[in-house]
This record gives sequence, structure tokens and C-alpha cells, in this order.
Amino acid sequence: MDDRDGKIWMDGELVEWRDAKIHVLTHTLHYGCGAFEGVRAYKTAQGTAIFRLQEHTKRLFNSAKILRMTIPYTFDQVMQAQIDVVKANNLESGYLRPLVWLGSEKMGVSPKGAKVHLMVAGWPWGAYLGEEGLKRGIRVKTSSYTRHHVNITMTQAKAVSNYSNSILANLEATEDGYDEALLLDSTGFVSEGAGENLFIIKDGVLYTPDLSAGALNGITRNTIFAICKDLGLELKEKRITRDEVYISDEAFFTGTAAEVTPIRELDRIEIGQGSRGPITEKIQAAFFDIVNGRNPKYAEWLTKV
Ligand code: PMP
Repeated sequence: MDDRDGKIWMDGELVEWRDAKIHVLTHTLHYGCGAFEGVRAYKTAQGTAIFRLQEHTKRLFNSAKILRMTIPYTFDQVMQAQIDVVKANNLESGYLRPLVWLGSEKMGVSPKGAKVHLMVAGWPWGAYLGEEGLKRGIRVKTSSYTRHHVNITMTQAKAVSNYSNSILANLEATEDGYDEALLLDSTGFVSEGAGENLFIIKDGVLYTPDLSAGALNGITRNTIFAICKDLGLELKEKRITRDEVYISDEAFFTGTAAEVTPIRELDRIEIGQGSRGPITEKIQAAFFDIVNGRNPKYAEWLTKV
């Protein structure tokens, strides 16, 4: 990833991609206190636009707040940085990665004295779980790793440190031949995927784990709430057990990277017909209409660059 042409916004300026470097004594590299975002820009009929830029930027500031880090830029500067990165890299569509981290000014667990830094990178990125996955659905395994308890690491922060849990779960699942992991919370209820929120559908009603199960408050998850309202679909947040997923009619993952990815199997048990279900397909189509600028109702969710 490091050897390519392009620009990265780093501490207030656009620098050459290859020169966007930090020191090995970077505090976040050692102790894991940092926060990031994943944002997508889409090529719409009206030009390239960033989807829900305000909400992603707000979550970045909230993540930093939870981690007791003060971002040394204004909200508008951080929004503008993301727009500038899309422009500077001539991205028609792609993924943006803002990251807040603690610098190399000091060592030791206490970050006092370490500066808060910010960077934004952006690159073209297709379907996270594969184009085929978007159409046919993916195969998922319940992880042997438990999702963070809400009072261990802070689960409403998109914190760097939370992702060692996601990495372990994802590696275990993919090394066993699955596409992605599903994590349960510390009491055994369904939480979320390694980098996605979960929805199931039973008898025409959608269910998603409530946030007390330690799932991130996904912006795509929230977009699905709006889509369900528009389509007249009932949706409930509740505690969900893994066997409820086995006997659901349809299931799908959501995320900025994963978009709306159907799940066709959990733990080698087919969900519904073992393919993308009809309601999932409708929701997926509505999602792509919104992000690609084909639904005027949500024009304000798209920031033109
Ligand atoms: N849960 C986790 C652990 C994630 O990493 C992500 C991706 N950011 C999500 C859920 C989905 O969040 P969003 O829809 O805001 O991308």
C-alpha cells in the first residue's frame, strides 16, 4: 500500500503518498489508542460524492472523545480534508481512511505529552467481500472469540485497539474457509461481524442486535433503518441468539466497506434458500440507489467533491 503515487492529507497538508511516514516509537503503534473511520465516495450521475460525510466525521470526533483525545482541527477542516483527498487523488469512487493517532513524543502507557495527529488517505476499493458475495451471499462462521464487552474497550468508538479482536475472528474464519466471522457478546448473544453489522429477516420482519451487545453504531446500519421505513418494512432492535440466525429466512451484513452483503450460510447451516433473499435484494437495490445518487430524498447524504 505504501509504494504508490498519490497524496495523503497528513497533519494539515497534502503530502506525497510515499512520504506519509511516522516514527517507530509512535505511541498508538505500541499501545493501540487511536481512532479511525471508513468512508466511501461514489461516482454518481451528478459527479463524485462522499456518502454521509458529516455522520462519519461526527463519529470520528466521538471516537476521539471517548478515547480522551482532542483532534487539533475543526469539524469543517476534517470534512474538507476528506474532500481534498478525493480531489487530489482524482478518485471517481473509492474508500477514505481518516485516522487519529498519538505521536512519538513519548513512551509509557500514559499518553500525556504525546501529540494527537490526523491523516486521511483514499484509494479505489471495490466490493469488500467480493462482487460474487454481493450477488450470491457469503459464508460465515460464528467466532470462538467473544466481542468486546461494552466496558472493556469502548464499543461505540471506532478504536484501533478494538480491531485486534476483529482480526483474530476474521483470520480464524477465513483460515477455516469461510468469508467472514460473526462474533457473539460476552453473554452469548449475537453482536456483529468482524467489520459489519448484522441483520436477519424472519416472516417479513427485520431484526438487528441492539447496541448493548457491543456492536458499533454503524452508519450503514442507520441507512438500512431509513430504507426499511421507506419500503414499509418492520424493523426491531433486540437481543438475537445464534440459532435465531440459523432459522432466519434471510440475513445480511452491512458496513461502509461491505455495503449490503447477503449471508447464505452460518456455521455450514444454510440460511433460507442458501442464496440472496428477496427482501435483502430489495434493500440492497435501495441502498445502491441512495449511495449512487438515484434517490433524490437522500441527496443531502451525498457531499459533492
Ligand atoms: N462494526 C464494525 C466492527 C465495523 O468495523 C464496521 C465498519 N465501520 C461496522 C460495524 C459498520 O459500520 P459502518 O456502517 O458505519 O461502516
